[in-house]
Amino acid sequence: MDGAEFRRRGKEMIDYVADYLENIQERRVFPTVEPGYLHQLIPDHAPEEGEKWDDLFKDIERVIMPGVTHWNHPQFHAYFPSANSYPAMCADILCDAIGCLGFTWASSPACTELEVVMMDWLAKLLNLPEQFLSGGKGGGVIQGTASEATFVALLAARQKAIQDYRHNHPEIKNGEEVADKLVAYCSDNSHVSVERAGLLGRVKIVQLPADDKQSLRGDTLQEAINKDKSMGLIPCFVCATLGTTSSCAFDNIKELGPICEKEGIWMHVDAAYAGSAFICPEYRYLLDGVEHAMSFDFNPHKWLMVNFDCSAMWLKDSSYVVDAFNVDAAFLKTGGNDIKKTMPDFRHWQIPFGRRFRSLKLWFVLRLYGVRALQDIIRKQIALAHEFEGLVVKDGRFEIVAEVIMGLVCFRMKGPNEPNEKLLELINKNGRIHLVPGKIKSTYFIRFAVCAKSTESKDIAYAWSVIAELATRIISENKR
Ligand code: PLP
Repeated sequence: MDGAEFRRRGKEMIDYVADYLENIQERRVFPTVEPGYLHQLIPDHAPEEGEKWDDLFKDIERVIMPGVTHWNHPQFHAYFPSANSYPAMCADILCDAIGCLGFTWASSPACTELEVVMMDWLAKLLNLPEQFLSGGKGGGVIQGTASEATFVALLAARQKAIQDYRHNHPEIKNGEEVADKLVAYCSDNSHVSVERAGLLGRVKIVQLPADDKQSLRGDTLQEAINKDKSMGLIPCFVCATLGTTSSCAFDNIKELGPICEKEGIWMHVDAAYAGSAFICPEYRYLLDGVEHAMSFDFNPHKWLMVNFDCSAMWLKDSSYVVDAFNVDAAFLKTGGNDIKKTMPDFRHWQIPFGRRFRSLKLWFVLRLYGVRALQDIIRKQIALAHEFEGLVVKDGRFEIVAEVIMGLVCFRMKGPNEPNEKLLELINKNGRIHLVPGKIKSTYFIRFAVCAKSTESKDIAYAWSVIAELATRIISENKR
């Protein structure tokens, strides 16, 4: 494909994408294919000679689309949203064209510099404490995912705890001795990525019980810390969640934070989904307490119109991360020492070495939408969630499981779990809408998330009519 053909085919591709998104509601939201379906549709080896564009293009509908779960379908209500916008897609095209790997400032200065400015813009939108902004010890960095951010934070906390402990106990010669005693905490509602970060970082993770609102509280944490310290363990890290995956609950960081500060423990705040809502002043109170955190992360790629991947992470003191991951090679020394003082080398702030020019899509989205339109999208989706909640509440067969704060409604049919499991199975087999389950302790429920930006009131009413119809079917089958 040369430049002339790229111009032509690229435009065809853009038309295809716009058609796909504009007419997505005509597709089945959840595919019917069986595992292994794709093997049967394409050869088992790469072609020896290049093929024609038209042949490839036809195969998008034949091979790919039958196996796609349409996350931007107005009837997609599973998991959490995956943000999608034309400005972000345009920025990604530019990112691919530039194709730089921004591991050092010198490897492509605009890549680092735009990221620093965009992370400051975002920090100001969320009204994050000054210490998280660039210019001092702190600053922001774009990670690929919230899981990576948690892992990076845990590794930095591990490094800090070993350093601090050895400083206070100079008789200890070997850092490994300290590492074996490290312990970290999260709630029993935390995302599985926290447990995984512990496994990868070799730090024992203790899942603490949340209260009856699924919030991790200060007294629970303090008790666990006291117990572990009395056994000779070294508490080093707490991952608090704002907007848990199962029910969008909020850990009490106003209580957890001061305890972490007093105990010298690194608090990381994971607001993967809910974080975007903090750009609305009326939801910012949910972030109070973040001033106690050493690091904070949320995913603009979930709810802020920036396509995957873009996870925004801030550190109060980046030196811990830089020290934990700092390795150098001769080919990286192109810029001189002055650059280091004023601009970060983001390779020290992340797990991979190479990094995409992801700040472009933040820049495009923030400039082309503007803050007000982004706030409107969040407010609209939360209002739609409340509309759905109202429909659930009106039907005496159902109950709401957790307070609806953001765009997620957790509900179930009253009574045992089994009919609810059957109901969800039927909903997804039926294919008109797509939902996933949640479980808190032994209670099984169904999660309804407002995901696509094209979802409207009529889609909420439609989704509820499908659920109510299938629930009637389950109830009458159970009576037989
Ligand atoms: N943390 C929370 C609270 C989440 O809800 C999720 C995903 O939904 C994650 C972490 C993982 O996000 P990512 O896929 O960006 O790692």
